[in-house]
Amino acid sequence: MEKVVIIGTGCAGLTAGLYAARANLSPLVLTGSLPGGLLTTTSIVENYPGFPEGIDGYELMTRMQKQAERFGARVKFGCVEAVDLSHNPYALTVDGEKLETQTIIIASGASHRHLGLESESLLEKKGVTFCATCDGALAMFRNQPLVVVGGGDSACEEASYLTRFASVVYLVHRRDALRASKIMAQRTLSNPKVKPIWDSVVTEVLDVKQDKVTGVRLKNLKTGKESTIDCAGVFVAIGHLPNTQLFKGLIDMDENGYIIPKRGMETNVPGVFVAGDCSDHVYRQAVTAAGMGCAAAIDAERYLAGLKQ
Ligand code: NAP
Repeated sequence: MEKVVIIGTGCAGLTAGLYAARANLSPLVLTGSLPGGLLTTTSIVENYPGFPEGIDGYELMTRMQKQAERFGARVKFGCVEAVDLSHNPYALTVDGEKLETQTIIIASGASHRHLGLESESLLEKKGVTFCATCDGALAMFRNQPLVVVGGGDSACEEASYLTRFASVVYLVHRRDALRASKIMAQRTLSNPKVKPIWDSVVTEVLDVKQDKVTGVRLKNLKTGKESTIDCAGVFVAIGHLPNTQLFKGLIDMDENGYIIPKRGMETNVPGVFVAGDCSDHVYRQAVTAAGMGCAAAIDAERYLAGLKQ
């Protein structure tokens, strides 16, 4: 039987793994479908303390994993398919195999939010993408006009990154002011290749008939006017949804699916803890996720110590 199973290998999961390992709990850390989490899909991370020149997202996560493993964390590729929290030890089904554990740290992160358009899903991977770092350098996007949708830090980061490849990057935002941090907004809007299109939403990605992206249909929310622009790619960067579906009805969450911790990182189920983006819709930073992972591991350690007494 496991003492601690950690679900997720983003900043929260791997930091929890590091702390649980150093507490001699030999945690099992399950990667989920995206080992290293969303940060592996980003380019340079400039705001993680300790890296004054910034660090590549993939490298940061690789280093975190190595650090956790050095102290005895067992990182294993695997997706949790089912959980039984009706009694302790808790049961998990991981890629068809059952395992039992005294505690669980849920650090399952969040996934990209979609626009919800039929044309968006039909043209996914045919010009519609959710990750500029992953796909931006593809030949199909080189020297072409591209569209980024969103007004947050992610949209700004994607737009700036894509200026390396695109002829022009249209930044389509539904309001007339960016939500992004001042430094990111300033950097993006001062880039001559970025052309903001304010107060507008994408109503259709063109062209499903041609089975590739050729443009977008836009609607100005203030004037109601519709227009189209030509582009070879649409990069959707409109936020995230927590990866918590597995725990629906078992663990308390808010109406958007974010798990609500009760005390510290404890959930309403004793011995089940939570950390990172699956429980945080406010800060959502690498460093806050890491901090929550640390706290969750300390809480799990204290819980296990309490069981022994
Ligand atoms: P976010 O801050 O939630 O921004 C999402 C953006 O998408 C908002 O501008 C929002 O518009 C827009 N949006 C949401 N739903 C939409 C829809 N259905 N149609 C059109 N537009 C829609 O998400 P994020 O940019 O992914 O950032 C998430 C967190 O990660 C933030 O805390 C951010 O600071 C952090 N982050 C940091 C960095 C960095 O510092 N390097 C990089 C990336 C992300 P409204 O503004 O009108 O709500």
